[in-house]
Amino acid sequence: MPESAVKTPLVSGPDYTELFEGLAAEFLSGKTLDLAWRRAQLKAVQRMMRDSEADLFAALKSDLGKSAQEAFVTETSYVSADAAYSGRKLNRWTRRRRVSTPIIGQPGRSWVQPEPLGTVLVIGAWNYPVQLTLSGMSAAIAAGNCVVIKPSELAPATSALLAKLVPQYLDDDCVKVIEGAVTETTALLDLPFDHILYTGGGTVGRIVMAAAAKHLTPVTLELGGKSPCVVLSDADLEATAKRIAWGKFTNAGQTCIAPDYILADADTEALLLPLLEKSIREMFGDDPQKSDSYGRMINERHFERVSAFIDCGYTVIGGQTDAAEKYIAPTVLTDVKPGSAIMKEEIFGPVLPIVRAENLEDAIAQIRGGDKPLAAYLFTSNKRAERKFLEQVSCGSACVNDVMMFMAVHDLPFGGVGASGMGAYSGQRGFETFSHMKAVMKRGWWPDLELRYAPHSEKKLKILRKLR
Ligand code: NAD
Repeated sequence: MPESAVKTPLVSGPDYTELFEGLAAEFLSGKTLDLAWRRAQLKAVQRMMRDSEADLFAALKSDLGKSAQEAFVTETSYVSADAAYSGRKLNRWTRRRRVSTPIIGQPGRSWVQPEPLGTVLVIGAWNYPVQLTLSGMSAAIAAGNCVVIKPSELAPATSALLAKLVPQYLDDDCVKVIEGAVTETTALLDLPFDHILYTGGGTVGRIVMAAAAKHLTPVTLELGGKSPCVVLSDADLEATAKRIAWGKFTNAGQTCIAPDYILADADTEALLLPLLEKSIREMFGDDPQKSDSYGRMINERHFERVSAFIDCGYTVIGGQTDAAEKYIAPTVLTDVKPGSAIMKEEIFGPVLPIVRAENLEDAIAQIRGGDKPLAAYLFTSNKRAERKFLEQVSCGSACVNDVMMFMAVHDLPFGGVGASGMGAYSGQRGFETFSHMKAVMKRGWWPDLELRYAPHSEKKLKILRKLR
């Protein structure tokens, strides 16, 4: 999000103190510690996704022009599968994890015991407005917390629907939805939550972190950035083009882990372009504007912002726009002007520049010249190239020979590094994000070695040295 887009509250916001204290009291009652309660909530999430599928699809269509299939794959079935997985793993995740106790601590046992943090805040973004609020919520519930969800106001139909559905399905004493924009979020950020999961741009991420610092509230920041996609000449270019086109043009490019730009040499670029065109045509037909499978920009501001990127290079594919429908055609650019705006910020829309990289080393150097990406992609059949890329490119998640598919692997942690975020969630890592991993040691009574007690002596020191 550019600096100019940061909104600041003009009026003092609502007071959520009572709501927060109610949740804190519910947490202290011990209700959310009960594994049966957690399982019931996770089952309710699945029921909510199943029963309300048609309403959720309609809201996502209204906010983002998402097709039913896309809404199913990336939102409702994702949330449902994620909650089901957490439910199945709950026994294992909540179990004590034994660690070894050294001689000096004998007789004794040591373990790590997960405990919930308390009441947590989940602030979602608009691009996957169901997934980005409810997956975080499910992870927080699995870990035994009370939760406040703040969906993005930029996806208003989905936000309103979540505010209606969540209290119908989940325990309304422990899980709350607060709708609103900057004023409401600012008021929420004044409260001493036990953890905040924020998804969105880095500028607001800094605001969230600064607000959290006042209460020493730990944060997980799921941010964005430019996710590069390196294509080497030895890749299966037909499959490469299909997978990149799918990843880039899903949700009209408004995906935090979408391939932001391609890095390739001149010959690979020449071979890739017709294959990208073919893939786009196969997915969205001759006129993507008429395709039910193709989405729209979230609002006028993002429509204008992304449309302006088209002038940053030479349009080989697409380039058409329609402001009335917030439509931007799947677009591929070459000959991107050095230093142009499109290479300075995350594109977050359906415009795909191909940037020249002479070879893998050049591509890696270009990536390392910028912020650490949320995701980085490599297409190659060469194992050494793969190893080098994975060793030398620091990023939140990497995928070799595909894009975005790591999201389907529940137990791969999802999160950024450096400018693309801090902390992670998904699967067990999500459970741990919303847990404190409490260190516990239990001592036996006998024998009680005299060694550590005063009076200290040379003899005791000698034995202690041997025991270390
Ligand atoms: P957004 O405008 O929906 O903002 C995100 C949240 O922050 C919203 O709930 C909003 O109400 C709140 N917010 C906005 N201004 C605020 C302020 N001044 N104070 C407090 N809260 C405020 O979303 P966005 O920022 O446009 O999101 C797009 C960015 O999010 C992209 O960079 C994208 O890559 C990133 N993203 C990251 C992930 C991830 O999982 N890492 C997922 C989706 C999007």
